Amino acid sequence: MSMDLPEGMKLIDENGRRLDGRKADELRPIRIEAGVLRRADGSAYVEMGKNKILAAVYGPRECHPRHLQDPTRAIVQCHYNMLSFSVDDRKRPGPDRRSVEISKIVGEALEYSIFLEQFPRTSIDVYIAVLQANAGTRCAGLTAASVAVADAGIPMRDLIPACAAGKVADTVVLDLNKEEDNFGDADVPLAYIPRTGEVLLLQMDGHLTQAEFNRAIELAKGGCSQIYAVQQDALRRKYSIAAGENGGKEEEARGNEA
Ligand code: ADP
Repeated sequence: MSMDLPEGMKLIDENGRRLDGRKADELRPIRIEAGVLRRADGSAYVEMGKNKILAAVYGPRECHPRHLQDPTRAIVQCHYNMLSFSVDDRKRPGPDRRSVEISKIVGEALEYSIFLEQFPRTSIDVYIAVLQANAGTRCAGLTAASVAVADAGIPMRDLIPACAAGKVADTVVLDLNKEEDNFGDADVPLAYIPRTGEVLLLQMDGHLTQAEFNRAIELAKGGCSQIYAVQQDALRRKYSIAAGENGGKEEEARGNEA
């Protein structure tokens, strides 16, 4: 955020287009697959622009460490991890401040959406692996994790779509990519359930006026609605393949089991 813009670089051109050709209110191309891992109880793969993210879910299962066990409900233990090869310079492996923070906020959003009281004393373990990062990974990670929880058959209020909006070159834009995140002025990640209007995650990095903030929230809500439809479609595809309703797609179903 707010690094100096390299000489000659324009984040928004005279036609209002961004570096990757998008308009201000456009998401990056998004793709979601549900049930991509065989060993996990539930899983999902998300590509959002150049982000590539896998999420795996286990549980509800016996809670370890034991002292975290809650006799009245399940807990969610979320582990967000950026792999060494996910960024330009090798990222030092293992947890750091940033991954601890993201694990916490993503885990809390998931806890809110899951009917935890149905599974006392258990843990729902969520692993998010960022294979390739290009800004917006906490949102894409939560988007993936929520599909993986649904894929695991864990009862939940709703899917959680998430995306960021922010400000670059004095313009409020949707879904910042890496250059926009580096050289822009603000980044506002949002997780929002379109059906109920609930906000499950909201952060802000940088500065916005009240009017810009309102516009950013409006854009991010629109983005979440689009992502929500893609999440639903991913689950529908997986279960129609599993139920053999998808004539020509058996090949794909076998691929998913590998
Ligand atoms: P988010 O990925 O949710 O936008 P941040 O704003 O903290 O979270 O990070 C923005 C982007 O910066 C990441 O998506 C990634 O591309 C890059 N990044 C984060 N941490 C590192 C790191 N340790 N080394 C290199 N790039 C990083």
